[in-house]
Amino acid sequence: MSTAPVAPTQIPIMRPYLGVEEERAAAEAVASGWIAQGPRVAEFEAAFAARLGAAHAVAVSSCTTALHLALVVAGIGPDDEVVVPSLSFIATANAARYVGARPVFAEVDLATACLTPATVEAALTPATRAVIVVDQAGMPADVDAIRAVCEPRGVVVVEDAACAAGSTYHGRPVGADALLAAFSFHPRKILTTGEGGMVVTSDASLAERLVLLRQHGMSVSAADRHAAGGAVIEQYLEVGFNYRMTDIQAAVGLVQLGRLDEVIARRRHLAGRYAAGLSDVAGILLPADPPWGTTNHQSYWVTLPEQVADRRNDVMQVLAEQGISTRRGIMASHLEPAYEGHPHAALPVTERLTNGSLILPLYHELSEADQDRVIDAFRNALEDLS
Ligand SMILES: *Cc1c(COP(=O)(O)O)cnc(C)c1O
Repeated sequence: MSTAPVAPTQIPIMRPYLGVEEERAAAEAVASGWIAQGPRVAEFEAAFAARLGAAHAVAVSSCTTALHLALVVAGIGPDDEVVVPSLSFIATANAARYVGARPVFAEVDLATACLTPATVEAALTPATRAVIVVDQAGMPADVDAIRAVCEPRGVVVVEDAACAAGSTYHGRPVGADALLAAFSFHPRKILTTGEGGMVVTSDASLAERLVLLRQHGMSVSAADRHAAGGAVIEQYLEVGFNYRMTDIQAAVGLVQLGRLDEVIARRRHLAGRYAAGLSDVAGILLPADPPWGTTNHQSYWVTLPEQVADRRNDVMQVLAEQGISTRRGIMASHLEPAYEGHPHAALPVTERLTNGSLILPLYHELSEADQDRVIDAFRNALEDLS
């Protein structure tokens, strides 16, 4: 027996929850011979729409491509302004750029880290044609209140629900009633297909155009042509894209979707343990359900007390030295080189959140013992800095 000291196990920030069922489903898709977009994608779309209670779901290659297509079908183009939170993964702002529109960075609320009707209203101009509302790290934004500000002015609300599968809004799944909502299946999110995304929509004609655009504007899908048996000549009705999901991904997604309730229940349990272990730290801000819904806690971000907010990177370093991975808070697009020189209003809340918060480990198989190690190490780090 070695007597060498054992290094504490590494605690990652996130680990996707995948089992033999996903392995088997992917292998079956490969064995079927149908590996590109086909029957499993159609099945995944139907199952996802049913789980959300949404009218239509269109699978695509990522949430980034989902947001791009959502803006195309919403008719957004050059010279239009699209209000977005700067505080978001950069794909939110980039989607506006893909259609030639100008992203306008709006401020977020300190408690939810989401846009609010007031911050959206402050960013509207006569050129505003759309708003992309982000359900931040799974936290549902108050979309109906924002729609009430936007829709009378002809401004379309698109929901970036990348992280929000299974979060709820007024008792229903996020996206259930959305005109256009985009979801991600990247491994950092609540469900994964490796890479992948989904657009849900309440509008049948928008769904039809989304399907067309994700497959080169082609009038007949490969699956339909195959099913028809006889000769089918397709047409290309407009300039589209190749934003398809594969059947291998959809096979994994179908299994993952079946785990959604279990995954969210576990995360909410662990988030409750973080809240119990940290809420007495003076000045700390923790993510909590807003009055209008429930979060799936895709990420657990903690905003440091103001007096130590500028020591965030030191806290992360101290935790890293103890084998605990953390991440900076949600990024702010206006601070990235890609948006250098892009004009924007003052964004003090966004800057406080991005600079003064960090994301703690949270994933399905995080043990309570490991979580307690995180809580203790984090509390000690804060005490040492105070
Ligand atoms: C992850 C994420 C995206 C991008 O999702 P992909 O599927 O990786 O393209 C977009 N918006 C938000 C808010 C995200 O968190």
